[in-house]
Amino acid sequence: MIHPTYVVIGNPIAHSKSPQIHAAFAAQFADHPYVAGFIYQQLLAPLDGFSATVQGFADAGGRGANVTVPFKEEAFRWVGEQLTERAAAAGAVNTLVRQANGTWQGDNTDGAGLVTDLLRHINLRGQRILLLGAGGAARGALLPLLQQQPQSLSVANRTQSKAQQLLDEVAAPWRHAQGVSLPVLALGFDDLLDEVTATNLSQYDVVINATSASLSGERLPISDAIFAPNALAYDMMYGKNQTPFLAQAREAGVQQRVDGLGMLVGQAAEAFELWTGLRPEVAPVLQWMREQI
Ligand code: NDP
Repeated sequence: MIHPTYVVIGNPIAHSKSPQIHAAFAAQFADHPYVAGFIYQQLLAPLDGFSATVQGFADAGGRGANVTVPFKEEAFRWVGEQLTERAAAAGAVNTLVRQANGTWQGDNTDGAGLVTDLLRHINLRGQRILLLGAGGAARGALLPLLQQQPQSLSVANRTQSKAQQLLDEVAAPWRHAQGVSLPVLALGFDDLLDEVTATNLSQYDVVINATSASLSGERLPISDAIFAPNALAYDMMYGKNQTPFLAQAREAGVQQRVDGLGMLVGQAAEAFELWTGLRPEVAPVLQWMREQI
């Protein structure tokens, strides 16, 4: 067996679409010397064996890895100091890059994948953004979203204190370092549901679902009135059928509705570029993936 130079590590991993995506990217550069012989495979790590698995891959000459559920925080710790700014802000690593001196750098391309996908549909500068959820995916998205200079960014979570914690830990230091006064606000879902009058509700131009509610088929307790005219609704989840959040947005009259398949392909494109220095075209791969699911 030829040893893979790139892998995606997770548990479970058999469902991962990353090998298909990276094979499609590599095919775009078939004649390029960096990419000739590009081998990308799935690597199952035992739940208590991430470090041993990634170390074994590294010792065998691995050059790069994607890390997925449930190991992104463990990968962050495995890397130690060599983290990009966005990985440090995310507190999680989804991409490991072998450096010229043999050490490993940890990056997080999830938020960049989200932003590049959003930018295919809407300019984020000057927009009022609402991020729903305060888990790992929301944390990874926060800094890349702030860097787009929206008019404001609010984070709403079922557990409001976690939204506040996210803003304290990620947004506050960034705002301080940049010297910007961009308004950020932590909300509970109660703040998004005014069943009687809807008069106290703020409106948002971009509403991003980073909760895992769609995974269990649940709707979010939010009022239709939070969507501004011409708003865009984005669900990080994706699937063959419309997600519950996007169905909710459609019923609220939102015309622009986008699921997270483009984020998945986008984060992979960022990783591919980190490893090879080559920027793959996302659109044809996204279209092909859409036909596969
Ligand atoms: P986490 O488990 O880290 O966080 C889950 C979040 O969802 C928390 O904020 C939690 O709130 C909230 N939540 C869970 N259930 C409900 C519910 N029934 N109603 C309201 N809120 C709920 O998950 P991740 O952040 O890792 O993932 C979130 C979503 O993003 C998933 O659907 C995942 O598939 C998707 N994702 C997509 C990617 C892509 O490439 N397209 C990449 C990464 C993630 P609380 O704090 O109150 O518990």
